Amino acid sequence: MPESSPAGNFHPADAPGYASILQCMRCGFCLAVCPTYALTNRERSSPRGRAALARAVAEGKLEFTPAVGEEAFFCLDCKACTTACPSGVRVGTIMEFCRRQEQFFRPPSLPAGILRDFILKRMLPSPAMLETSLLPLRLYQRLGLQWAVRHLGIKRFLPGVLAKMEGLLPPIGQPLRLEIPETIPAGGVRRGRVAFFLGCAMSLLFPEVSRQTARILSHQGFEVVTPKEVKCCGAPHLAEGDRESARRLSLLNLDLFSGLDADYIVTDCAGCGCALKEYEELLEGRADREKLRLFRSKIRDISEFLVEVAIRSEDLRPVPLSVTYHEPCHLVHGQGLSGPPRQVIRNIPGVELREMKESNWCCGMAGSFALKELEASRKLLERKLAHVRATGADALVTANPGCHLQLAWGLREMGMKQPVLHIVELLGRALPT
Ligand code: SF4
Ligand code: SF4
Repeated sequence: MPESSPAGNFHPADAPGYASILQCMRCGFCLAVCPTYALTNRERSSPRGRAALARAVAEGKLEFTPAVGEEAFFCLDCKACTTACPSGVRVGTIMEFCRRQEQFFRPPSLPAGILRDFILKRMLPSPAMLETSLLPLRLYQRLGLQWAVRHLGIKRFLPGVLAKMEGLLPPIGQPLRLEIPETIPAGGVRRGRVAFFLGCAMSLLFPEVSRQTARILSHQGFEVVTPKEVKCCGAPHLAEGDRESARRLSLLNLDLFSGLDADYIVTDCAGCGCALKEYEELLEGRADREKLRLFRSKIRDISEFLVEVAIRSEDLRPVPLSVTYHEPCHLVHGQGLSGPPRQVIRNIPGVELREMKESNWCCGMAGSFALKELEASRKLLERKLAHVRATGADALVTANPGCHLQLAWGLREMGMKQPVLHIVELLGRALPT
């Protein structure tokens, strides 16, 4: 967000761009799509209200008060307002900058700061450390402790945040990064070479999903290269206001993937795809412009990619299933991809797509929002699941690990039987064996 001054009462480092704040003309078109406004009916929790707060700080009329910081973190960064806004105001991004500002004006306590730095600066940048950190959780599941917590009423005694974290935990297997071959040959007639950006959450929490992605890419005639040195895309850092760490990671990924001589860089994680597509802006002035442009031109979400290269469907087997589709915010609003996922679903023989109401509304996960704002997150999830229920579909399809965790938890909590499937899991069922 390269913008001219004034920074006003913002700290000058990483202040939100003034020109982007000024784009808001206060029309209110965004109000009807903002989930936090729908929850609170409070102007300051709306996109227009948040833009006004940022403007007042930038013009020196308001200090960066705790209320501004609270709104920055209460915003889901779902970007629905940007889709609706005639001026294209990126309130979610402005709030990301305000999260960074919160670190300047109200740094966390010493223990909280140490924990935050450890997670953002040590753990997330290190795939090996992340993988090791899952060992106790695997043990917890293997020894039957999770079963006991979930079925013997123990979870009732856990504090809310812990209960939610426990509830979100999927079955933990071997991280895919350790197992996936660096190169998988193209199946059938070769159509090109794809670099697979294997996201941390996908490798750790949904290895079977990303295994399907690699299988599909190969089936479609692409050689698949998955570099083991891949780093976190930086999305969690941006969401928490740690832009410096995000820049460090993005530079590493930029160098790594630029050296792979691939026609495309594909991801099956909506959050990663959104972050990767923002590298150009994040690294402006810090990396070679042409290299950034070329990198950006190759990034594709898996469904965007399949539609663009014209999915080969002649040998797909029927999958007799009715499904409904939840659109991840980072796909529909962050990348403007609403049609391609549906096209992929409709391409699978036997699958019936039943549209739900408000399919492009946030499910309430939104990174750490689901843990920091338990009640608000639950309300958003209940609203989503009511729409899922109304479709009567056999399964709920989505395309982002955060949504996947939250929706699966919600369905279990509400006693609903539908499984949650990533689009590639659905497509994988149709692939010849
Ligand atoms: S953010 Fe956009 S839609 Fe919302 S009030 Fe401002 S200009 Fe209008
Ligand atoms: S990003 Fe989402 S939660 Fe934040 S202001 Fe926009 S619509 Fe509301």
